[in-house]
Amino acid sequence: MHSMNRRAILATGAVALAGAASRSNVAEAQTAKPIFQVAEVTIPIVGEAGVFPVRRIYCIGRNYAAHAIERGSDPNREPPFFFQKPTDAIQNVPIGKVADHPYPSLTKNYHHEVELVAALKSGGTNISPEKALDHVYGYALGLDMTRRDLQNAMAGMKKPWEIGKSFDHAAVLGPIHPASKTGHFTKGAISLAVNGTVRQNSDLDKMIWSVAEQVAKLSEAFELKAGDIIYSGTPANVGPVVKGDVLLCKLEGLPDMSIKIV
Ligand code: MN
Repeated sequence: MHSMNRRAILATGAVALAGAASRSNVAEAQTAKPIFQVAEVTIPIVGEAGVFPVRRIYCIGRNYAAHAIERGSDPNREPPFFFQKPTDAIQNVPIGKVADHPYPSLTKNYHHEVELVAALKSGGTNISPEKALDHVYGYALGLDMTRRDLQNAMAGMKKPWEIGKSFDHAAVLGPIHPASKTGHFTKGAISLAVNGTVRQNSDLDKMIWSVAEQVAKLSEAFELKAGDIIYSGTPANVGPVVKGDVLLCKLEGLPDMSIKIV
């Protein structure tokens, strides 16, 4: 048929063009060098010489039930929602030190959110909750720092609230502890104190979506890969900090993490 021939010719042409393009891309990749260097983002690993290279930062929103009665068995729980922070927003905080954390620009209502962070050594799509923890390399304590006034203002206008979440130093993070040594975190006390007064105090078993379920749900929306980290949500009682405040984060089974707002 005439139309078949025409389609065949077009298809052959497309294949030839694609081949030429990929050959030329390969040639360019072999010779082209970056015009400047961009810093690679890594996280120290406790007890290991190597560091953990970061690909993406995912965060889950509203993942702790306000009351015990709302715990995970509720079949009507809403699907989890996710957002991302830029990888270079990470501020590494060493164990046993109080790291200076700069109060960011534009906000007058800067909030703490203490969270368990899971770090992936592998990934995939449509991962089942039963297999999800096989992809977790380790865990860390994190702070999902938030310019709450900007987040709320943007949310009120139905605009993206990236400016409230995705800014420099917004992803405060302790070192990673390999799950091979700590086991997987499904329960345990998590808390945050400001200047010695406890503000957030809960247990990981109150998470609406477990880390395994978070990995599974995320992998429906994105192809997860080695180097992805997941901030797993914060308990109730988030609140403001000001310059001079010292924040102390605790998670049962890990060393404390502390920063001072400067
Ligand atoms: Mn958060």
